Amino acid sequence: GRRPLVAGNWKMNGTRSSIAVVESVRHGLTPDLAERIDLLICPPSTLIASCVAAAEGSNIAIGGQNLHAKPSGAFTGSISAEMLADLGATYVIVGHSERRAYHHETDDGVHAKALGARRAGLCGIICVGETKDEREEGRTLDIVRAQLAIGVPKGATGVDTVIAYEPVWAIGTGLTPTPADIAEVHASLREMLEQLVGPEAGRIRILYGGSVKPSNARELMSVENVDGALVGGASLVAEDFLGIAAAY
Ligand code: 13P
Repeated sequence: GRRPLVAGNWKMNGTRSSIAVVESVRHGLTPDLAERIDLLICPPSTLIASCVAAAEGSNIAIGGQNLHAKPSGAFTGSISAEMLADLGATYVIVGHSERRAYHHETDDGVHAKALGARRAGLCGIICVGETKDEREEGRTLDIVRAQLAIGVPKGATGVDTVIAYEPVWAIGTGLTPTPADIAEVHASLREMLEQLVGPEAGRIRILYGGSVKPSNARELMSVENVDGALVGGASLVAEDFLGIAAAY
């Protein structure tokens, strides 16, 4: 089976004092849980090195929230996959809806970034998800399948690729799809992955993200084809993040 992944996306939150959150997660993580699931925290780039140090020797991985597709060059303000890997990051989020909405990231751009992540040996977490209007128009499956088909690199594997389904309207709103709606989308994504990479699709984890909290984690994480969570707000509080992980 696929090993669950519970991932925290801190977004643009956190200063050096937030390293204490990683330490608290580390101390609160029981050996039993650490054996069953993978944990990942994606802090702002400014905190990656210190979070890597705080997590060293535990099974908490540290990742980036974004990357530039190219390895280096005249791209002021950007950070490459190689730079993230050099700090000890092992994952990177690719194509989060906030990047798509506020930084005009396209599916082709997501594909290029996913290739960049793989080039540097990082696992890329490729995000897909529909807006409220798209859901109401009945276009959810078309939208997320197209995002997947363009974004996922040829030959993607369960080692270098994770998918995150994050309905845009569920992010930071307290709203979530029903378990049946999530099951429908995840089954459709799994089927699309099979078209794209064949049997390896069975090894690629598909996370759910959007208003995951300790109180709804058990219900959401028990949905078929949900292999973990991508957690925003609740990942900023160690107790809440651990509470979500405890769904496993
Ligand atoms: P929330 O958990 O705050 O809804 O954010 C989800 C998300 O965007 C994670 O990437």
